[in-house]
Amino acid sequence: MGKLSGKTAVITGGNSGIGLSTAKAFVDEGANVVIFGRDQKSLDDAVETLGEAAIGVRGDVTSDTDLDALYAAAKERFGKVDALFANAGIADFAPLADASVDHFDRVFDVNVKGVFKTVQRGIDALSDGASVVLTTSVSNTKGMASMSAYSASKAAVRSFARTFSAELVARGIRVNAISPGPVATPIYTRAGLSEDEIEAMGAGMADQIPLKRFAEPREIASAVLFLASSDSSYVVGTELVVDGGWTQI
Ligand code: NAD
Repeated sequence: MGKLSGKTAVITGGNSGIGLSTAKAFVDEGANVVIFGRDQKSLDDAVETLGEAAIGVRGDVTSDTDLDALYAAAKERFGKVDALFANAGIADFAPLADASVDHFDRVFDVNVKGVFKTVQRGIDALSDGASVVLTTSVSNTKGMASMSAYSASKAAVRSFARTFSAELVARGIRVNAISPGPVATPIYTRAGLSEDEIEAMGAGMADQIPLKRFAEPREIASAVLFLASSDSSYVVGTELVVDGGWTQI
């Protein structure tokens, strides 16, 4: 029997990178998954890979209407939501001197308001005893140039794990955050960086990481699986750092 047999999980950003890898890990452990993302083609491709245990819902985490449709679809197909991975996010980097208000608003709209709304609109759909996992980042504790808006957005998400827990723990709902270091996903190309810039940034970061490499998405997924399953039944409001030792050594 799998660690998530009979459970239903909703995963935002489940059509790419960390979210997709987590969807695969959850399905392998017996879960039904509802993946949510903006791009229909990658949602369709992901559902085909994941098989019958998965459905895809297209939408944007900044839209209440889309989120309501997400939870309605999850309940209609599977009846309940036992795990929620509020993972969708964007990377958008700019030096403080050049950063526009649009840049700041874009990052906070998706990474902060999007996570806030994802959990808020899902409260009624979540079953008692559910597990909620939020994606923050080690950047919430590291000062890195050009990352002021992104890192602050992830610090807000770290805080949500505590405050959402305080509100939801009476229903047995545990909220925790996963905090990855650099992970090899499409997020860097989406951030508008060129291949050369990604390679230079990657080499610079990898050099500082004790394990000397980026994480593979599945290495984050296995930590999310721990937080989503009863293996972490006494873990509440915390942040699980998965960063190859970057922030510790
Ligand atoms: P990714 O680009 O592969 O995946 C991000 C997903 O979020 C995509 O499916 C995208 O469509 C979705 N998304 C973005 N904006 C959305 C919106 N407005 N509405 C709905 N969906 C939206 O990148 P990833 O690396 O897998 O990122 C997943 C999470 O991990 C993000 O929150 C990111 O900040 C965080 N993270 C990534 C890294 C890394 O190095 N890759 C490190 C730390 C934290």
